[in-house]
Amino acid sequence: PTVMREVYLEPPKIRWTDIGGQAEVKQSLREAVEWPLKHPDIMAELGITATKGLLLYGPPGCSKTLTAQALATESGLNFIAVKGAEILNMYVGESERAVREVFRKARIASPSIVFFDEIDAIGSTREGKQNSGVNVLTTLLNEMDGIEMLRGVIVLAATNKPELLDPALMRPGRLDTILYVGPPDRVAREDILRIKMNKMKIAGDVDTKELAEWMEGYSGAEIVSICDKAGHGAMKDCLRDGKISPIAKSHFEFALARVERQITPT
Ligand code: ATP
Repeated sequence: PTVMREVYLEPPKIRWTDIGGQAEVKQSLREAVEWPLKHPDIMAELGITATKGLLLYGPPGCSKTLTAQALATESGLNFIAVKGAEILNMYVGESERAVREVFRKARIASPSIVFFDEIDAIGSTREGKQNSGVNVLTTLLNEMDGIEMLRGVIVLAATNKPELLDPALMRPGRLDTILYVGPPDRVAREDILRIKMNKMKIAGDVDTKELAEWMEGYSGAEIVSICDKAGHGAMKDCLRDGKISPIAKSHFEFALARVERQITPT
């Protein structure tokens, strides 16, 4: 049978500061995870319950996965990550077992976060689905309802096709906190450029503000890709000239003209 790859107890070390922009998303996640852990007394006093599930949605390459990884690192909680497609591509009956297993592990590792990346693969509407697909979704819903009595298991899910999701998934008590992770605005693009360029040798003629303006409509992933392409061009020049020179504005211009925008402009 298919082996399910998962990150277990070993979250990638991404920090909040590695993510440009997305201040509101970061803050909402912090509150959802930190409040119940640090201030259970205040929550009890106010009579409010902790969020059990959060859904991140938005176009590709705009830091949904990165955000989940940062939450894992920064919260210090155990983190179990699964890709929806990996669960679906299993033999009949195996997928349901895999879903139950993920939650079992999460309960043992509590306080913990279960992250379902590409949740649409298992969470799309029941209409037009094979029986096996319906069963996986039902198992997922049951498991999510089951953690009500257990403290310390938070479900986080991500998708770039929210319109496909079965509404039952977003009912109160399930993935009821819904956060849009959108394309970066100008300030966020500048932020992303700075974070990336920090690790690169950049020439004095490179103006981050100007680049950020030119990059309107690009996703975070595309901005990082432009930087990498610029670096690649500089590398070629170094080899040609037999000496090391930093990555210059001309390299960025060259790269910018060659990386196509995949997502709708903001
Ligand atoms: P998909 O929907 O395709 O899974 P995603 O929204 O999960 O996309 P990520 O995997 O988080 O996107 O981002 C891809 C890569 O793009 C990251 O590893 C990172 O290099 C870069 N990136 C995207 N957004 C940002 C950002 N806001 N700050 C820094 N890097 C970013």
